Amino acid sequence: MVSAVGVHARSWCAYHKRRFPRIDIELDYEILGKMPRYTTGDTVRGAIKISGSSAVSFDKLDIKLEGVSMVLAARDGLLILRGASQKFLQLHHPFEPSADSTHVMPDHPYNIRFEFAIPPCLLPDVCVQEKKNPSVERSHTLLPPSLHNELGKRSSEACCITYHICVDILRRRQDGLLESLGRAKKRITITPDSNENPPMLLEPNIPHPQYRICQEKTVKAGAARRDIGRLVVAASQPTPICLGTPARGSLGSKTTVYLRFDPLGDNPPPALHCVSTKLRVATYYSVSHFDEYPDMLPESKRKASNIGLNRKTVALQELCISSVQWTRHTTGLDDNLPDTSTVHSSPESPASLRQETYYSAAVVVPLTLPDRTPFIPTFHSCLISRVYAVQIDASYRARDRSVRKSTVSLRIPIQLINRQISSRDDGDAPL
Ligand SMILES: [Zn+2]
Repeated sequence: MVSAVGVHARSWCAYHKRRFPRIDIELDYEILGKMPRYTTGDTVRGAIKISGSSAVSFDKLDIKLEGVSMVLAARDGLLILRGASQKFLQLHHPFEPSADSTHVMPDHPYNIRFEFAIPPCLLPDVCVQEKKNPSVERSHTLLPPSLHNELGKRSSEACCITYHICVDILRRRQDGLLESLGRAKKRITITPDSNENPPMLLEPNIPHPQYRICQEKTVKAGAARRDIGRLVVAASQPTPICLGTPARGSLGSKTTVYLRFDPLGDNPPPALHCVSTKLRVATYYSVSHFDEYPDMLPESKRKASNIGLNRKTVALQELCISSVQWTRHTTGLDDNLPDTSTVHSSPESPASLRQETYYSAAVVVPLTLPDRTPFIPTFHSCLISRVYAVQIDASYRARDRSVRKSTVSLRIPIQLINRQISSRDDGDAPL
């Protein structure tokens, strides 16, 4: 359930110091200064240590593993911020009170061990809002990865997903209600396993707000910039990149870039130069529940719905393709054409461009993430989504004396999935 962010008017630190002893949460295999990391199926094990300078008795010890999403977003482009949070996960460690276990004596710390298994998914009732399709519904019942607030330093907006081990020591008052004697929590990082989803259904000739799988461009040459033909570039949707760890690196992927040149007259195809790739990282966040995938919304609808978007770009590789040769085809004479089904001349191509001769080329482009930049997997949750696309810039120039280069740009969706992060592996906060 999504709820408005509350304001904690009470200072638990001051309360803690005044009323009750120290609470320490220690995790097994913890390395000082490093936030422990876990994935699906791991067990979070550790101990709660309660110590103090005076005797204290309590009635209940509440030990939980909690997962919370939090969003602060501007409304209608103004400085007015709205907030929302969702406690999507709450696992309780059982605690049976007894006469011996509910007293803490001076100089005799009280210890209790705990363990939580990281579940493969959330409870179905975590998300009861209506969705546009079953796929969105299923996405919202999967465990989202920890996400640090990447907006904090340069924006009043914020979005984050956090997991904590939380401890609350409670005592029953004379009126029967429970009061807290002290609280503590410790943050952990969870990057759950994720599975590959089917490729997105994108039409080459229908503009999309985020992605472009095909682009056409008129190729010009000479000082007069005369048209010499039309270049069409398209790329296949790559298989997912499987994330590893900062130490082990990730398993890369690849895409094939298809090029087709329809000459005007006898003009030769342009000289190919290079293909550069970048990873476009997009985080969508909203104080209202997503009822569809936010990256599929038109820009105008996204803004009207007050859905925030934070974008980053990470450079990947640059590949020289000057040695790639064009293949010449003659329609009707060549019955064994290579598969260029993803690249066609525009239906609106003028009759003058419908030549019997055209050229094609294909380039396999490797996609490898930087070694030292950790990433989180693609995910869609109730308030926050993270998606990725590969930007492919292919440069070329006409075969004249001009050195002017032109570029066609594609933005192909790509999934980052997690299957290999091992528990207790430390690293920097993922991007
Ligand atoms: Zn939801």
